[in-house]
Amino acid sequence: MGRVKSALRHDYKHGLSSARPRRPVVWFGAAGGLLLAGMIAVWLTSDKDAEVEATPAAAATGVTRIELALPPSSQPADGPLPTAAPDKQPIAATSPPAGKTTPAQASPAPVVAAAAASAAVTPDIDAEPAAPVGELMRVTVKSGDTLDRLFRRNGLSVADLALMLRLKEARNGLAKILPGDNIEIRHEQATVLELSRRMSEELTLNLVRHDDGYKAEFLAHPVERRVAYAQGKIATSLFEAGTESGLSQTLVMNLAGIFAWDVDFALDIRSGDSFALVYEEIWQDDVRLRDGEILATEFVNQGRKVRALRYQDPDGRVDYYTPEGLSMRKAFLRTPVDFARVSSNFNPNRLHPVLKTRRPHRGVDYAARTGTPIKAAGDGKVIFRGRNGGYGNCVILQHGGNITTLYAHMSRYDKNAPLGKRVRQGQVIGYVGATGLATAAHLHYEYRLNGVHRNPRTVPLPDAEPIPKQYRAMFEEASQPLIAQLDAITQTRLAAR
Ligand SMILES: [Zn+2]
Repeated sequence: MGRVKSALRHDYKHGLSSARPRRPVVWFGAAGGLLLAGMIAVWLTSDKDAEVEATPAAAATGVTRIELALPPSSQPADGPLPTAAPDKQPIAATSPPAGKTTPAQASPAPVVAAAAASAAVTPDIDAEPAAPVGELMRVTVKSGDTLDRLFRRNGLSVADLALMLRLKEARNGLAKILPGDNIEIRHEQATVLELSRRMSEELTLNLVRHDDGYKAEFLAHPVERRVAYAQGKIATSLFEAGTESGLSQTLVMNLAGIFAWDVDFALDIRSGDSFALVYEEIWQDDVRLRDGEILATEFVNQGRKVRALRYQDPDGRVDYYTPEGLSMRKAFLRTPVDFARVSSNFNPNRLHPVLKTRRPHRGVDYAARTGTPIKAAGDGKVIFRGRNGGYGNCVILQHGGNITTLYAHMSRYDKNAPLGKRVRQGQVIGYVGATGLATAAHLHYEYRLNGVHRNPRTVPLPDAEPIPKQYRAMFEEASQPLIAQLDAITQTRLAAR
């Protein structure tokens, strides 16, 4: 038996209902517009902190791409690496009159191979035929820099800078410069012909010299979501098989997270287990930036097949469900803190480590570093938050089914989980500490059912809510294409055997 038997990936531009709507980029011509554009960019970038992978994973891992009997791919497998001056698509040229709303490029980014030169501004067909004159320099902001200092250091005209800063867009766009920021400047001697600054993942501010001063324009670099497929067979571990299939670590972790309630990836995995997934990739200018969400996935563990489908209901709740509409989760996390070990078990007859008296230990202690995030074990409401005797800084959550959970010895609380607030399972409510009666940093965690303490490690956990009845039909409609795609991938796997 080899390791990964086959792996396939396939991309096509998708139009699944689960995808967030493609936003029109609209130029508002004012600070508000810019702010909004920035906010939109952040909102779109659900995983903005993730490391940007500039190299397509498939290329890096030599994964074979197989065409499926699905919408054809018009995308080249490998995009060029990002260049210093990415393909620019002017949204709207602007002259000073502010407050004007110009409809932006309504269609998605044209898929044009960014074969453009690395330096010169690539003129769009509709753009003014800006002859690339002058020299391009790329300046990097240093600690303590002001624009003035930056211009002087690079021998550029500060009079030009003053002229630029007459534009509201320039003042907004250049108001905050941080060490490490790059600004591209095309110049002729001291005269600045053009200045470009990337405002966000999706927007560049461009200041272009004209006879009567400078004009500001914003260039869009829209990100697009493409659906990709992957599958693999496990020889040793999911992690290994996943990365050999060209999946990023994040994607493998997310995959494991979806099945975490059904499969113990440390103990249950056997050689011959397999997985398949339909997921999103985030692309920009034909460069794959990173992975998006897993839309549908299948895991076959010791012959048992489990499938999970991502679904967002009209209330905005996103979760993974079985094709039958049951939640993949339990209503409670078994352990509300990661990277922790059990330092003291639930024990009705324990000798207390500080008080040296026999006192029942009504919870489980998880030793973890101070500051480790503590997660709400289940959906619920914060009914207590504050100092609570030996518990120190303590949070109590009220859940459905007359269950409460208690989290003690916190170093601090999370600001998003104040008293009275509803919290979601997995949401951070506070941080590990050693407040109250504690010898070292740990989380003391209690689970009470009808007011009675139960052992959090062994108490049977209720299932999380299935798809609400009223959304059932919508769920089925949304999940049919995902199931069809999973079927297609896994049938390809069988055929390839
Ligand atoms: Zn304890």
